[in-house]
Amino acid sequence: MINIVLFGKPGAGKGTQAEFLKTKYNLAHLSTGDIFRFNIKNQTQLGKLAKSYMDKGDLVPDEVTTKMLIDSVESNLDKNGFLFDGYPRTLSQAEALKVFLSTKSSIVTATIALEADDEILVQRLLERGKTSGRPDDQDEEKIRNRYQEYNEKTAPLIEYYKNQGNFHAVNGIGTIQEITDRLTKVIDNL
Ligand code: ADP
Repeated sequence: MINIVLFGKPGAGKGTQAEFLKTKYNLAHLSTGDIFRFNIKNQTQLGKLAKSYMDKGDLVPDEVTTKMLIDSVESNLDKNGFLFDGYPRTLSQAEALKVFLSTKSSIVTATIALEADDEILVQRLLERGKTSGRPDDQDEEKIRNRYQEYNEKTAPLIEYYKNQGNFHAVNGIGTIQEITDRLTKVIDNL
């Protein structure tokens, strides 16, 4: 299995790049944000719970998110591996992923971070909010809260994965194609 964690701040372009990478490498793309939004749309229990956090720009509790992620992995075992987009976002999630993958005799092959400056990203999200319909993209205060959540809870994962020797950073500013090329170069050299 090839398991890639696509890492980056909100708006860094993880979802856009995942669309190309999943086809090229035959990976299952698991976006926790997309799975939550699907549940919100279908008004499931999980969706109702997640919405109360997401609308404010807060992270959904680890236990809920991890259970959902594991269920999604279990139902997508027919591909070459996984492209994790938006998971893990906390150290506890990273540990849970590690333990779970070990039950499949597998590991996180690489974590690839898409890097970009906060101010550029906030502007991107506000632009996206005009068409995405996402409540968390439409209000600058909620966007700032997502960055605060990122800085407090998600940024420590950079050290965590660096210590494991599988962290790669890629410049996330450029055309979609340029960034795809940078990512494929990293993946092809794994
Ligand atoms: P973005 O990266 O642009 O903020 P996502 O679609 O990945 O957007 O996530 C949207 C929201 O979904 C997050 O702000 C958070 O509330 C929730 N969420 C997604 N993934 C996780 C996760 N791994 N842990 C906790 N909450 C999550």
